[in-house]
Amino acid sequence: MAFSLIPDYVFSDYTAVTPEFLHAHGVELLLCDLDYTLAPKSQKEPDAALLAWVAALRGSGVAMEVVSNNRSGRRVGRFCERLGVGYVGHAGKPSARGYRAAMAKHGASAAQTAALGDKLLTDVLAAKRAGVLMLMVEPSGGPVGSWNRVLHALQEPFKRACPCDGRGAN
Ligand SMILES: [Mg+2]
Repeated sequence: MAFSLIPDYVFSDYTAVTPEFLHAHGVELLLCDLDYTLAPKSQKEPDAALLAWVAALRGSGVAMEVVSNNRSGRRVGRFCERLGVGYVGHAGKPSARGYRAAMAKHGASAAQTAALGDKLLTDVLAAKRAGVLMLMVEPSGGPVGSWNRVLHALQEPFKRACPCDGRGAN
């Protein structure tokens, strides 16, 4: 199956993804990467801004599931418990199996689902394989370490190629 690695939308951060935007795109389930998407990896618990964002999504009827490759089930479990959101750990992105498991858990089709993430070769590739709307964000807290700085620089042309690059608008 042929698909593009260009995300459908690019935002500065998750707060730009509003209930209104999701409703306008028919999204009933949002699959969220955790590290550098919802919080820097060093952040152990959700902050007030993230709790408020999740509450607003939930209040508007959008379901949410964290889909993470993080090898520490403890970090993901604890973070999601505080968030009041379920999760699929050891998701194996760029395989689509984690996203598909989350969609099955919520009874949502690909057309009703969007993915949110910061990395091209895991989050975006898995979302394209699963056939869901892909929303990409800049790494929360900025890229950490030389490898991540290189990685995010390499991702930049794919974000620039996105016809809906909203980074200048939020
Ligand atoms: Mg990430």
